[in-house]
Amino acid sequence: MTAAPDTPVRGVEVAVYQVPTDLPEADGTLRWDATTAVVVRARAGGRTGTGWTYADAATAAVVRGLLAGVVEGRSALHPQGATHAMARAARNAGVPGLVAMAISAVDVALWDLKARLLDLPLAALLGTVRQDSPVYASGGFTTYDDARTREQLAGWLDRGFDRVKVKIGESWGGAEGRDLARTRLAREVVGDGVDLLVDANGGYTAKQAVRVGRELDDLGVVWFEEPVSSEDLAGLRLVRRTLDCDVAAGEYGARIEDFAALCGTGAVDCLQVDASRCGGVTEWLRAAAVAAGHGLEVSAHCVPTLHAHLGPATPNLRHLEWFHDHERVEARLFDGAPEPRSGRVRPDPGAPGLGVTLREADVAELRIG
Ligand SMILES: [Mg+2]
Repeated sequence: MTAAPDTPVRGVEVAVYQVPTDLPEADGTLRWDATTAVVVRARAGGRTGTGWTYADAATAAVVRGLLAGVVEGRSALHPQGATHAMARAARNAGVPGLVAMAISAVDVALWDLKARLLDLPLAALLGTVRQDSPVYASGGFTTYDDARTREQLAGWLDRGFDRVKVKIGESWGGAEGRDLARTRLAREVVGDGVDLLVDANGGYTAKQAVRVGRELDDLGVVWFEEPVSSEDLAGLRLVRRTLDCDVAAGEYGARIEDFAALCGTGAVDCLQVDASRCGGVTEWLRAAAVAAGHGLEVSAHCVPTLHAHLGPATPNLRHLEWFHDHERVEARLFDGAPEPRSGRVRPDPGAPGLGVTLREADVAELRIG
């Protein structure tokens, strides 16, 4: 049974969960020991849609105080309209960053809700160009010792991943020798038949990234993510023009102008987009179109369960990131989280929406807001 066209969104609720990491984690420029998920639920026509973002707990106050009232009462069949209205309502709060993450979580909940009202998987609601998406395994934290790094990489190979990513740029670029030693270790463990990706999280200066990058090229690294800050477009362009490996950035993009700038200035070989940060499913589709207009592919940043549905609907998709943290968190918070096979993931064609259900009673102990 499908919903009436004017089914209104009845209630928008938000909860905050915090899941400890299995080991202390750091990349080049940040350290953490827990991951916070801000989970939004929206109801209409007897169905519940769920969306989430990995953001500070303060994001929940933005959903409650600024966004819920904008969305409630609007038709559940037009998430784009709600998201446009949320962005306008948030003008004085400033949209990039935390507010964009709040809008994203609500937008995703509304898309999940619409798909459930129409009894379709979200991927099918969007319309697909393929059934599944290539994925890469991601972790390799700078806090890991060599034994743990080896164990994680070998575990990914056992699960059939054929692309892996490790973190470099340790201590804001202050540990180049260890960065390269860990990259060599990764190459040794995975062999030559597996794509090796690295992410410096903006830890290097531009010329430093070029020097490190020449050695990464020698190791056959195919992807150098945020060699410098993603706000340093000239630095990204210098690294991109100098090295063989692809340069990628975009995970902090929150406005369509951010993606247009990364693509239009020749700063990236592949645009990263995170639907849980950029304005949800609505803005993912537009960001992917911006990249396509520049002849570029997109790669999804983190949030694997969400992006598993967006990948098949994106013609210029390169791959999705299967991030160690988020895979753990999504398996803990939700029933129905997908599992990749042979380096690809396919959303469940028989499950409506995003195919996942919050395990509310089981995760009550993790709730912090
Ligand atoms: Mg990154």
